[in-house]
Amino acid sequence: NSFNELQLTEIVAHNVKMCRYDRPTPVQKHAIPIILGGRDLMACAQTGSGKTAAFLLPILNLMYLRGPPADKQYMAQRRYQYPLALVLAPTRELASQIFDEARKFAYRSKVRPCVVYGGADIKSQMYDLDRGCQLLVATPGRLADLLDRGKIKLDYCSFLVLDEADRMLDMGFEPQIRRIVDQNNMPPTKLRQTLMFSATFPKEIQMLARDFLNNYVFLAV
Ligand code: AMP
Repeated sequence: NSFNELQLTEIVAHNVKMCRYDRPTPVQKHAIPIILGGRDLMACAQTGSGKTAAFLLPILNLMYLRGPPADKQYMAQRRYQYPLALVLAPTRELASQIFDEARKFAYRSKVRPCVVYGGADIKSQMYDLDRGCQLLVATPGRLADLLDRGKIKLDYCSFLVLDEADRMLDMGFEPQIRRIVDQNNMPPTKLRQTLMFSATFPKEIQMLARDFLNNYVFLAV
């Protein structure tokens, strides 16, 4: 019942300590080993359950262990940003909260998190992306815009998280999400790790899980 048992790598474990999280919440305790083991996950978890750290910590841990892609195209990137992890969230408030946690957990690692959402100046977001972005938190509409402008490329994005998936569908984001995932040369399901978090599990979420996840673990806490 401590974070030590989760065997996070030193830098991530240190950042957790700095956040004064003493012990993992139930969703963290169960989801972190599943994600560290490389499995896809469909988790039913509410806001306040600690679900953000439940996906950020193992993703940062795996990114640290793997290092950047050893690939000429990736190394040569200049005008485009190639995030290695993408977190989709329904609102700018949730996206900002996820980004704030990502910044704490990624402190002094080589992962630079960025956040983009609608209703804010796109130019300053593009300028921020130019400084480097390994983990991108985004709302679907603004991400679609940046993909259309060729500002973001998902070719190396091997972690995909849909947070509050039911809320994103309620807000009508399903077509946009499907276009983002299917039409941007993202690694296919078997070559990426996909995690879905949702408070409810209606038919539409089950269909999305069937299409986006590969041999996934179902977790209800
Ligand atoms: P979330 O459900 O991810 O929105 O998290 C709800 C709140 O709980 C956030 O303010 C987190 O910073 C906090 N939190 C998450 N995990 C822990 C933990 N293991 N111990 C203490 N606080 C936590």
